[in-house]
Amino acid sequence: MSNYLFPPPAVAALPIRGQSELFPVNRLFFVGRNYHAHAVEMVGKEVDKANERAFYFTKAPSSLTLSGATIPYPPETQNYHYEMELVVVLGKGGFRVSQEQADDLIYGYACGLDMTRRDLQLVAREKGRPWDLGKDIEDGSICSEIVPMPGKVIESGKIALTVNGETRQNSDVNKLIWNIREIIADLSLYYHLQPGDIIYTGTPEGVGPVKAGDVLSGEVEGVGTVALTIGQPE
Ligand code: MN
Repeated sequence: MSNYLFPPPAVAALPIRGQSELFPVNRLFFVGRNYHAHAVEMVGKEVDKANERAFYFTKAPSSLTLSGATIPYPPETQNYHYEMELVVVLGKGGFRVSQEQADDLIYGYACGLDMTRRDLQLVAREKGRPWDLGKDIEDGSICSEIVPMPGKVIESGKIALTVNGETRQNSDVNKLIWNIREIIADLSLYYHLQPGDIIYTGTPEGVGPVKAGDVLSGEVEGVGTVALTIGQPE
């Protein structure tokens, strides 16, 4: 019997479509600038894939919040943004896997929102500081139920987001700069990937601010939907 000073935090977990078991979540990885049009709106130019590697950031599993929630507008920001993303869910681990081997790690997919304190992220970027305060936000990683699709590589499909019924993001996952196989293989060069790791694959263009009372609704064709309501600040 373990003997902790106080109760350890609960395991982060997500429901699985069609199953009663929960999916235990290990780590949350996020790909930065993975659609050219989003790179242009963020830094004014497309990504030079021939000369740049993908880059990543992480958020704590405790930032994970299930789709459908109402979350308070977070503290210490005046510019809280949505980023609609396809989430890849790993059911197996691997280290230095090839793109061909990457398929085998895939358990399924989900729809996610990578919520961002844009004002703090931009200050961090400008000053060469870590992105944590801009990105690793309590209730800032929204995720839908997981849809099992073992070994399937999603190569195309509409990805879109509305705020209060108005379309704000509308693209296709075939515009990912680094595709699903490339992301898994590349990330496995840095990390011993584990079952339960989930990867937010990046957002298309059209990111923007939210305010209290806003209702967000996102979809990825062939996967599902994600929803979020922004509440009053605490
Ligand atoms: Mn993102």
